[in-house]
Amino acid sequence: MSFGNLNIIDPLLRAIALEGYTTPTPIQMLAIPPLLEGRDLLGIAQTGTGKTAAFVLPILQRMSAEKRARQPGSPRVLVLAPTRELAAQIGQSFATYGKFLRFRHLVIFGGVRQGPQVSMLSQGVDILVATPGRLLDLMNQGYIDLKRVEFFVLDEIDRMLDMGFIRDVKRVVSALPEKHSSLFFSATLNGEAGEFARSLLCDPVHVEASPSASTLDSIDQQVFFVDQNSKNSLLLDLLSREDMKRVLVFARTKHRADRVAQMLAKNRIRADAIHGNKSQNQRTKTMERFRSGQIRVLVATDIAARGIDIDDITHVVNYDLPNQAESYVHRIGRTGRAGACGNAFSFCSADERSFLGDIERLTREKIEVREHKHNHSRPKAALAKKPQSPYKPHVRRVQQRSVEGSPGEQATARRIPHQAWVAC
Ligand code: AMP
Repeated sequence: MSFGNLNIIDPLLRAIALEGYTTPTPIQMLAIPPLLEGRDLLGIAQTGTGKTAAFVLPILQRMSAEKRARQPGSPRVLVLAPTRELAAQIGQSFATYGKFLRFRHLVIFGGVRQGPQVSMLSQGVDILVATPGRLLDLMNQGYIDLKRVEFFVLDEIDRMLDMGFIRDVKRVVSALPEKHSSLFFSATLNGEAGEFARSLLCDPVHVEASPSASTLDSIDQQVFFVDQNSKNSLLLDLLSREDMKRVLVFARTKHRADRVAQMLAKNRIRADAIHGNKSQNQRTKTMERFRSGQIRVLVATDIAARGIDIDDITHVVNYDLPNQAESYVHRIGRTGRAGACGNAFSFCSADERSFLGDIERLTREKIEVREHKHNHSRPKAALAKKPQSPYKPHVRRVQQRSVEGSPGEQATARRIPHQAWVAC
């Protein structure tokens, strides 16, 4: 299967070729044909599956089939994303894939001055990518009118609900015209996220890229049982290894993220923290320094890390285990990208034992336990008391599959191991 088989138009094919993509990912294969036909879509997929191109490509194609004059503040496409980073990344995808088309896109989010955004809006934009707060703010001030929206994309619905955006999203939806296509994506459709999505879609095509498979194939996962107060020394010890070149560390709270970054800096490790209390400018600068290698370790909270798309993160360290197993999948999916092999180290203290159990149940994997010299009497004791995990011990090692084809094809095959299926 190639992009050509999907009836993608030439300007998009050229842009895809420049990116080095040779084969559509499963979600692209399944989502693009119905979207080109104008269907609504409900996708269970997370970052790393190629879902952004799965909606950006057909939207651009359908827009170019029907040219319309730009009007100030009145876009044809509206994409809502929960975080600024994800919004910026989606905007970048419109720029990348739309390189040979003449559409103008704009990304708007809070935490920065509205002046430049308002000025761009007044010149007219075709595609608007937004976080809910700033969008509503500018709508209320009369700078944005959603009456001409033809395509409405809601990305990461589950996260949107977790972050308390549901009322904002409903207000946005009520400002949309009656006739438009809706494309919704979520990592899970359990509970509220599913109910919410289904209530707004009209006979959608369902597409799913399996989240559990997506984590694992190219990532070497290990767990370190360690006392809470020995986590710093364990982290410093690990960071003395030279192969830990670009490391993303997850902490549970903003405060802990700051403390870990400061501790690392004191120990002469180039590190910084990124979380919701930092201004947008600080976050952008920190991301840039991490991307360019000026800092070696980025300490993040879950929400701030959404949308981080840096290809060569060598290691993800869960300084704290997440209390939601799905977050583990999101976190470790930041490493092992673009054909590289990744490593995920998780620190587990006594009070985090149950989180580890949840993760192993979700991923159906027993994570390999790594021995070390730091204090871990308490988690070990908790381990001894706990019943055995129902899963067979299975140590997942980095898999180097043998793949025929060009380097691009090999990279794609290695990095996008998802299974996917469709139901109409
Ligand atoms: P996403 O899931 O949209 O965040 O995409 C994850 C990564 O996959 C991005 O870095 C894309 O550039 C990349 N990607 C998307 N589609 C393909 C493809 N067909 N082949 C190879 N890489 C892709």
